[in-house]
Amino acid sequence: MQPSVLEQMQPMGHEQVVFCQDPHTGLNAIIAIHNTTLGPSLGGTRLWNYNSHAEALTDALRLSRGMTYKSAISGLNLGGGKAVLIGDASKLKCESYWRRYGKFVNSLNGKYITAEDVNTSSADMEFIGMETKFVTGKPEYMGGSGDPSPLTAYGVYMGMKAAAKKAWGNDGLTGKKILVQGAGNVGQYLMGYLTGEDAKVLVCDINEAKLAQAKQKYPAIEIISNDNIFDREFDIYAPCALGASVNTDSINKMKCPVIAGAANNQLADENVHGPMLVEKGIIYVPDFLINAGGIINISIEIDGYNHDRALNTVAKIYQRTLDIFDLAEKENVHTQLAAMRMAEKRIADISKLRVGI
Ligand code: NAD
Repeated sequence: MQPSVLEQMQPMGHEQVVFCQDPHTGLNAIIAIHNTTLGPSLGGTRLWNYNSHAEALTDALRLSRGMTYKSAISGLNLGGGKAVLIGDASKLKCESYWRRYGKFVNSLNGKYITAEDVNTSSADMEFIGMETKFVTGKPEYMGGSGDPSPLTAYGVYMGMKAAAKKAWGNDGLTGKKILVQGAGNVGQYLMGYLTGEDAKVLVCDINEAKLAQAKQKYPAIEIISNDNIFDREFDIYAPCALGASVNTDSINKMKCPVIAGAANNQLADENVHGPMLVEKGIIYVPDFLINAGGIINISIEIDGYNHDRALNTVAKIYQRTLDIFDLAEKENVHTQLAAMRMAEKRIADISKLRVGI
């Protein structure tokens, strides 16, 4: 029998899960609030045609927990939350749909702040913003932080340089052979930084149009086939497409010393593949640490957006990555676990501040 919602919330420690539906607009939403110890929960709204409500709930629970870790390790005073909307984006998206959703977000009184995610844009945030102030990722002309991808890519670049320092003793990427898997928003901005430093950038994607667009922007990149990528030799693997690309099969084939990329949930199973990477001597930058540039950028929008402040805050991913390498070595654990411990420690330490004052 399928476990109840409460039974699914308990093992991961979720505080609250809210279900919203509206027959007039076709809205079916799940808002999952994982942890608000550090501050209001913040996380994007994902609109996806899930096969079942159970699958949508699992995604909301998993993603909101990930946001708790991402904000905590990034030093943000934010908790973890995420919303998933169930349905076909091409049929549902319109002003009334987003405003109805905005009313639901508003009913949580700021315990959940929303942002963009898969199939949602800054234009959609503008509609949501007509019904609630608890929305970020609004367009820049509205005082928002706009598209988070450039800052996510900058954070990945910083984390990658830290990993290079660990692997080769200096953080220069000139001449390094780097495979960027996924020529989407983040992947393309990342290519800009890498080609700017004269790295040898290989790029693969399943979407020919994205590859052509990337090649036009950055003629120095080399497009390679998406098949059998791990049969090739390169220095750094930058997963910027989907999750779970670091798995038993890929690790067994991998010849690169460093993994540093933007994708969420890169390790198919962190308990299995974290230790496997250590055994193989591959340096892995934890995904929720290296891809936090977007959430850091958005967090700055809450206080009044300032691009320089966003860039400087995202740049701290460099030192944080080095700190995680040190902690992993000291505690003799894989880097993903070290990063989780550091995030959990910050949440535990800050929760004690609330006692007695
Ligand atoms: P995107 O959708 O713009 O780009 C993803 C690209 O990956 C697309 O071009 C797609 O065709 C390609 N792709 C999909 N499956 C593939 C496969 N099997 N092999 C090769 N290519 C494949 O997404 P994005 O915004 O660039 O985000 C990239 C990744 O980074 C995602 O996992 C996302 O969750 C994560 N991320 C993004 C941000 C952000 O600010 N956009 C922030 C944090 C994490």
